Amino acid sequence: MIKKNICLKKYTTLKIGGRAKYFVNANNIKEIKEAINYAEKNNIPFFVLGNGSNVLINSDDYPGLVIRIVGGEILLANNCVIVDAGVFLSDLIVFCTKNNLSGIEWASGIPATVGGSIYGNAGCFGKSMVDNVIWVDVLNIKTKKIERYKNKECKFGYRESFFKKNPYLIILRAKLKFKKSDSTKIKAEIKKCLDLRRKKQVVGFSAGSVFKNYQFKNQKEKKEFLNNFPELGKFVFNNVIATGILLDSVKLKGLKVGNAMVAPNHANFIINNGSATSKDVLDIIDIAKKKIKQKFKIEIKEEIIFLGFKTIDKKE
Ligand SMILES: Cc1cc2nc3c(=O)[nH]c(=O)nc-3n(C[C@H](O)[C@H](O)[C@H](O)COP(=O)(O)OP(=O)(O)OC[C@H]3O[C@@H](n4cnc5c(N)ncnc54)[C@H](O)[C@@H]3O)c2cc1C
Repeated sequence: MIKKNICLKKYTTLKIGGRAKYFVNANNIKEIKEAINYAEKNNIPFFVLGNGSNVLINSDDYPGLVIRIVGGEILLANNCVIVDAGVFLSDLIVFCTKNNLSGIEWASGIPATVGGSIYGNAGCFGKSMVDNVIWVDVLNIKTKKIERYKNKECKFGYRESFFKKNPYLIILRAKLKFKKSDSTKIKAEIKKCLDLRRKKQVVGFSAGSVFKNYQFKNQKEKKEFLNNFPELGKFVFNNVIATGILLDSVKLKGLKVGNAMVAPNHANFIINNGSATSKDVLDIIDIAKKKIKQKFKIEIKEEIIFLGFKTIDKKE
């Protein structure tokens, strides 16, 4: 059922966002199709939301329809599962543990849906969704048909996928692969991942890492960087440096704008202290980008997804 004027704050982990003019919880294909039809018939924009753990929503009202895909089923298929997009990673992990399936423990503690995680190829500890996906079923809203994308066709990269570049594809469900193990070993691995996560845990409302880690464009850029900042050399792995390290070196930790602040223990996390607005967060993002550009002559890119900002919606 389509609801009106729904406050979006509570549907995001950052707890920021104005009201959506139209809002619907859709957790099966029929409801998703109905929601799209509604938006098209009424000529209004729409946005698909998972658990809202990687989004910054404008504090001003959104004039379109938010389709929140949360909930669904998990089916066992030998050492694989077929899982709906709206299923929480935490529920998937519990299901896999019960069924002695190993391979998704790394995702413990990520407050996300399967759909949102496939969209951004969520990952941690050197693993990501690309390692599990066999295929993904999507609703193509141009053709209204359901299409199946095999792993290679999903074009996964670092926090990237074909779906992220083609937002007319709505993720419906996926087949994920695992290895047979035993639940004691799986539980130990989950504990290990959660312990590691707790060590660098940020306390407060956040949307996870705000910026993607920085990938050097070429060897020349990396060499120049290492010449100019030899003290940061130990943080460069392959062609990548954690953006948190760069942000820390421009002294961003603890920076406050309005009611938003950079986490005191993790420079790539922005926290809402309770009543922060999207503008507070955008101002911090702006300061961060400028400081990095000034010191390192490089441009960092946001990992979080924007909704409701005329000029930056869906910006990467
Ligand atoms: C405390 C914390 C820790 C985190 N740790 C990690 C981490 O370790 N690794 C990591 O990668 N991320 C991490 N994140 C970020 C976030 O959890 C992931 O990016 C996650 O995959 C987003 O999923 P979601 O369901 O919340 O998606 P949302 O935030 O709701 O949406 C994100 C994007 O996905 C799109 N989307 C969602 N569902 C669908 C669908 N069914 N079809 C098409 N598009 C869809 C949305 O339109 C939006 O563009 C963390 C976040 C927090 C708050």
